[in-house]
Order: sequence, then structure tokens, then C-alpha cells
Amino acid sequence: MLEEHGGGHDPFAEVNETVSRACEILGLPDDVRQIFCSTYREISVQIPLRRSDGSITVLRGYRVQHNGARGPYKGGIRYHPEASLSDVRAMASLMTWKCAIVNLPYGGAKGGVMVDPHLLNEGELEQLTRRFTLAISYVLGVNRDIPAPDVNTNAQIMAWIMDAYGSRYGHQPGIVTGKPVELGGSLGREAATGRGVVNIIAEAANDLGIPLDGARVAIQGFGNVGSNAAKLILELGCKVVGVSDASGGVINSNGLDIDALLAWTAEHGGVAGYPEADNATNNDVLTMDCDILIPAALAQAINDDNAEDVKARLVVEAANHPLSSGADALLQDKGITVVPDILANAGGVTVSYLEWVQNIQQYRWTEDHVNRELGSVMKRAWGEVHAYAVDHKLPLRDAAMCLSVARVARAAKLRGYI
Ligand code: NAD
Repeated sequence: MLEEHGGGHDPFAEVNETVSRACEILGLPDDVRQIFCSTYREISVQIPLRRSDGSITVLRGYRVQHNGARGPYKGGIRYHPEASLSDVRAMASLMTWKCAIVNLPYGGAKGGVMVDPHLLNEGELEQLTRRFTLAISYVLGVNRDIPAPDVNTNAQIMAWIMDAYGSRYGHQPGIVTGKPVELGGSLGREAATGRGVVNIIAEAANDLGIPLDGARVAIQGFGNVGSNAAKLILELGCKVVGVSDASGGVINSNGLDIDALLAWTAEHGGVAGYPEADNATNNDVLTMDCDILIPAALAQAINDDNAEDVKARLVVEAANHPLSSGADALLQDKGITVVPDILANAGGVTVSYLEWVQNIQQYRWTEDHVNRELGSVMKRAWGEVHAYAVDHKLPLRDAAMCLSVARVARAAKLRGYI
């Protein structure tokens, strides 16, 4: 599973830099900036976990609600030894802006338990999830705060959250999203983030004049997001010429057979060694000759060490925070367009929203219906961000953040608290 952040930096401070810049561009007063650069509510809980050997391990968990001006708080729960409070705050803030950019009626939140779940057996994982859910249940609610999966959490864990919450407050499937389809999860949720990335690429290429037929695409990460993006981008006429994952990279300038690569990965645990391609390093794939680069794995994957060598015309941030601030500035100087994470990977939370809508209506849509709704949300969001960037002569990252911050500020103003 993913390591999201290397040590040595303060993720919340980094997010706040972009938020402060947006407040400045928008001319918002400093008190509003202070509201947006801090969180509304933070709950820190002790989780005494009875292990299978009878001992007790004491864990710490957080739920951070950043801003609820636009609606109930929404955001994933991750299980990771480095899910520190600063990390969780940063991600809660990003959720506020991500939900606003795709115009979902949500605020932003995030949760985390500092634990390596690979060291727990299934029974322990279930017990941990139930205890954590009940400990934070006072601030959750279908119309208050709705968790979802994140790093190291999955549909099964969401099912336990729904069950634990329901045992105290009555059955409410809309309390959590990313559930198994059998328990009210949405069709299309699994591929939603990768599909949203491809929706954005279709729109961006059109507006930026990048021909898609035969366009060469390189992808870092071949997990949920990377592999779904790889499959779907073929439908636009592109060819995927390079893919990397934790095992290494593979390059084939004639285009990789994605189904065959998926089958190889399933059998061998990674893309390395796939015979119909040249073996490469992860860095070779990031810096290879291509038209579109999709970092879909790690935070800070493109950094001061390799940004200079990136050759793509368009970089689409499928992962969260895949560019360091230095790399971002460097790519901008090189004239490379970067679609920021809060826009590019918002397909996941968009289909989470669609799941919640279906749960509330006690109705199920077809996968086609979900995909169409997702497509129209992503298309509209791209159009708004791109138009704002052109009108205000801003990079897409600043344009997206300004648009989001303006929407949240407007909602807060209408509610009367700023
Ligand atoms: P995943 O765990 O399914 O896949 C991660 C992939 O990254 C794997 O192929 C792994 O091998 C690869 N990887 C790990 N270390 C690597 C390395 N050093 N070099 C190259 N590749 C490496 O995760 P995912 O769900 O696909 O998420 C990918 C990114 O997208 C994360 O940043 C995540 O936060 C972000 N994201 C995911 C979703 C979602 O719905 N899954 C939504 C929004 C954002």
C-alpha cells in the first residue's frame, strides 16, 4: 500500500500556502484566511485494541472536520503509521476544496488511525474499525459527516463502519460511502477516480489543442487509479507507452497491451518483467518521451530531482500531491500544463456523492447512469476551472483553488458566519 508522505515536511502548512495564495488573489480579509487555514473540529480518540494473544495495544485515531459551509463533512479514513494530525488536517482541508471544485454539497473531513494494518489479523482489524467508529460516532451522521475509504481501508471496512454505526443509531447506509455493492455501494465506484481522470484528459486535450488520436501516455502507479485510467484512456485513441509501479517500470513505444499487463501484474505482483516491453525504472517512466503523464501513485513523485527531465505536454495529477512545490514551479517554467489533484482525482468523491444520493433515495442507478453523471460533473468542473484560468491568467492549480475558496467563502457568507 501507499506511502503518502515522506518525512520532514508539514503537509497542513503546505496546503495552507496554496489556500493563502488563493485568499490573497481573491482579496479576502485575513480573518477569513485564518478560518480556511485552520480546522473546525478535531476529535482525537484512544482505541484500546484487544489482540488475539490477549494483550492490549493502545492506538490513536483522529477525525478532523475542516469546513462545513457547503454541507456535511466528507472524507476518507486511512489506516497508516504516519497518519499524523498534520497529515489528517491537510487532507481534510483538501477535501473541502475538492468537493467545492466539483460543486458537491459537502464540506471536507478526513480520518486516520496511526496503525500498520498489515500487522493485524482480520478479527483485530474489524474490532479496531468498530471501536474507532463508535468513538467518533458523536460527530458522524448522514447529514453531518460521511466517511469513505482511503489508504489501507476498503469496502469491507466501510461495511463494518456502517454496521457499527447502525448498531447504535439504527440502519443508515448513507452514513459511509465506498461500501460493497451488496450493502448499498454504487456501481461504478471502483473505477470512478480513474474514469474521472480520463474525463478530464478528454476535455483538457480538446481545449489545449492536444490531439488524442495516437497520443502517448505514461502512467506511474498501476493500482486502482492508474490501471483504470490506463484501460479507459485507450478508448480516447491514446496509447499507453509506459507504466511503473512499486516493482519497477515497463516501456513499449508501440503501446502496451493493458489487459495483458494487468494479467501479468495479477500473476507476478507487479509490472516488472512483463515480456512485451523493455524494463525500465520508475524514474525512466516519469521522464520518458510522451504527450501525457499521469502520476497515480505517490506524493512528491515529481520533485526537484527529476522535474527538469519531464517531457510530457500535459501532467494530470491522479495521485494526491504528486508534485513538490519546486517541481510545480519548474514545470510551469517549461510550459507544461498541470491539472491539479483537487480537480483531476475528484471522480472518486463524486461517485461517493452519487452513492450517498442513491442511499438517501433508497434507489439504485445503473452503472451507465452513474458514469454519465460522473462525466457531466467532471466536464463542467474542467470547463469552469479552465475558463477561470484563462480569464484571470492563472495556472490551473491557482484557478482551481481560487474557484473553490470563493465558493466556500460565498456559502459561509450566506450562512452568516463570515
Ligand atoms: P493503490 O494502492 O491501488 O495503487 C498504488 C499504486 O502505486 C500501485 O500500483 C503501487 O505499486 C504503486 N506504487 C507504490 N510505490 C511506488 C513507487 N515507489 N513507484 C511507482 N509506483 C509505486 O492506490 P490508488 O487507490 O490507485 O491510489 C493512487 C493515488 O491516487 C494515491 O495518491 C491516492 O491518494 C490517490 N487517490 C485515490 C483515489 C481512489 O479512489 N482510489 C481517489 C483520489 C485520490
